[in-house]
Amino acid sequence: MGLIIKNANVLNAAGELELKDITIEDNRVTGIIDAGSEVEVSGEVIDAAGKLVAPGFIDMHVHLREPGFEHKETIATGTRSAAKGGYTTIACMPNTRPVIDTPETIKLVLDKAATEGIVRVLPYAAITKNELGRELTDFAALKEAGAIGFTDDGVGVQNAQMMKDAMTLAASMNMPVIAHCEDESLVVGAAVNEGTFAKKHGLKGIPNESEAIHVGRDCLLAEATGVHYHVCHVSTEQSIRLIRQAKQFGVKVTAEVCPHHLLLSEEDIPSMDANWKMNPPLRSPRDVQACIEALEDGTIDMIVTDHAPHSQEEKAKGMQLAPFGIVGFETAFPLLYTKFVATGKWTLDFLVKRMTADPARVFGLETGKLEIGAIADITIVDLESVQGVNPETFLSKGRNTPFTDWQLKGWPVATIVDGKLVWSAE
Ligand SMILES: [Zn+2]
Repeated sequence: MGLIIKNANVLNAAGELELKDITIEDNRVTGIIDAGSEVEVSGEVIDAAGKLVAPGFIDMHVHLREPGFEHKETIATGTRSAAKGGYTTIACMPNTRPVIDTPETIKLVLDKAATEGIVRVLPYAAITKNELGRELTDFAALKEAGAIGFTDDGVGVQNAQMMKDAMTLAASMNMPVIAHCEDESLVVGAAVNEGTFAKKHGLKGIPNESEAIHVGRDCLLAEATGVHYHVCHVSTEQSIRLIRQAKQFGVKVTAEVCPHHLLLSEEDIPSMDANWKMNPPLRSPRDVQACIEALEDGTIDMIVTDHAPHSQEEKAKGMQLAPFGIVGFETAFPLLYTKFVATGKWTLDFLVKRMTADPARVFGLETGKLEIGAIADITIVDLESVQGVNPETFLSKGRNTPFTDWQLKGWPVATIVDGKLVWSAE
């Protein structure tokens, strides 16, 4: 059985839109032909008239919360939320309970994803047992079980020797180390950025250098070990400076940024509402500008959501006590399209590549492209539709977003994984 997507607006090699019909057989794209041509493929027909048809989005930083925190999210709900956001591949972080630090837990996640998930789930494994920073996990066994990289996301690896050992081992098996950069000695008990909001409300702040110190340390360790080092959710001007310098020096460093760090600063936080609390926190307008420029000049390689669902009860505890994190799948594309593409700052091609081809390139994935022979992971987006963000409509269990009621343009309407329609708006 095949699938035909008719009247698709497809980005060509020059980054311009062309009207095409796309044929899919089994799980592969078999044809991208001028719209209206006669084709012989039996199967379902999707009319994409007026809509963008792009490679499925890839999100290399997400929290699915399973096992252990199923009240926040499950692999079933998280992958549905991802599909609704146009994502066909997501890479999940190991800070679950138990922590994903054994081959058994990797297998559990992969099995659940295969039976209950609807998009591709790529698991990361922890660098250290229980993410406690004391003892390395069994990298070889974790790789064998299907881990795609090593990270203690949620916390930084505090000890430089531990990080160097991890990088040396990962490099020897050609695996990346992915780092949440945070020096804990600088952030004890802080919930927001060390800046204007913290000052106004008499709160402790998280300083920029708590992130950048780890970025600088780890760039040096990556240089020494030759590992592929990937920096999570970059949020500060100082981190960017260090990544830029390391890249210029030939260090194998890559980086990601989240939509909220491109769109919001601490000056936008309206109240002590914990839906504005995430880690790293919303920084100064100057940091936001630095993140935008770093993405534009290639210092930052890709956009990720850091989708981090929490229950309403947990987020109701207020700015100081609530857990860090906001949901991201279902608003990422419309947010970025509305604020950067519809305003003429970026081309559509630029945005799509940072969410598809670039993460695929950095992590060596086979997906992320729409061409003949490619795996048929596809997202269809209505670039004209305008809707307000309504958390009640989220497929995620999490409702924790600072973007409620934002009027956004460019909503995904259908998502195809491995040649099969897994979600559609109708
Ligand atoms: Zn993190």
